[in-house]
Amino acid sequence: MALVAHDAKKTELLDWAARHQEALRGCRLVATRTTGELLARRLGLRADLVASGPLGGDQQIGAMIVEERIALLVFFTDPLGTQPHESDVRALHRLAVVHDVPLASNPASADVLLPDACLRMAAPAPVEADAA
Ligand code: PGA
Repeated sequence: MALVAHDAKKTELLDWAARHQEALRGCRLVATRTTGELLARRLGLRADLVASGPLGGDQQIGAMIVEERIALLVFFTDPLGTQPHESDVRALHRLAVVHDVPLASNPASADVLLPDACLRMAAPAPVEADAA
């Protein structure tokens, strides 16, 4: 599961993660650097860190989506500000759509999508059909 929040939305993401920390502790998490460091410092939630969003972290998470390593993208964007890496933000959204990865842009969506993602992450890999 990937977690990203623009600066104006970091408090919202922390509040959301605090409400769901029990479930999140059972998941392998990846986060952009500042978001991940905040999750670790404030909640003790451990996430693999990619670069900060403006330094290419969104693109790194996009690559993980292409590799089918992301079950849910929680990406709280700031709809009232402009980002220096707007093109990367759009590209990450686009890859989530292209690869049909659930995408939560706000806490209400993330509330709905989290239980399903947890179930899918806990499920064993499907057994290959016997070729015989
Ligand atoms: P950050 O990156 O977690 O390092 O702040 C998020 C972003 O702005 O895309």
